[in-house]
Amino acid sequence: MKVPREVGKHTRNKVYAENDPYLPPKGKGLVGVSICKDCTAVYHNKKWFLDAKLYEQKKKLKDINWVTCPACKKTKENVPNGVVTLKGDFLKEHKQEILNLIHNEDARSKNYNPLKRIMKINEKKGEIEILTTSAKLAQRIGSILFKAYSGEVEYKKHENAKFMRVEWRR
Ligand SMILES: [Zn+2]
Repeated sequence: MKVPREVGKHTRNKVYAENDPYLPPKGKGLVGVSICKDCTAVYHNKKWFLDAKLYEQKKKLKDINWVTCPACKKTKENVPNGVVTLKGDFLKEHKQEILNLIHNEDARSKNYNPLKRIMKINEKKGEIEILTTSAKLAQRIGSILFKAYSGEVEYKKHENAKFMRVEWRR
């Protein structure tokens, strides 16, 4: 039996969103209320919120800036900050269960910060590839899978920690 291992765990908490060209420059948040026309995320008080009630309330205001939020922009341009690859026979046998876990984490993450979400899930040749808008979310998905199912997980940081590649196998 293989001994579970989590390679590169020391890299945790060292992922920063600094120098992300998709975010407004520091101290220069968008003015007033902006709403993403694609995902209905609302920007106010210098933060993005994905909240149906807030959206209903804010969309009635005059002078709304209808914009594309940084997460939708990354999705459109296909520029992920994290890629998680899942492999192995266990994955094939428990695919739906594993995908449910990942979808739950996506929902939790978006609720906390709408800019940190899954962009796309690709399935090819028995492997699953998850593209995320955030290096930290990719890292978290790897960590959650390892905690839930053991196996092997590997984290590779790139480009000043803006980009994270994660591979989980079981
Ligand atoms: Zn959006």
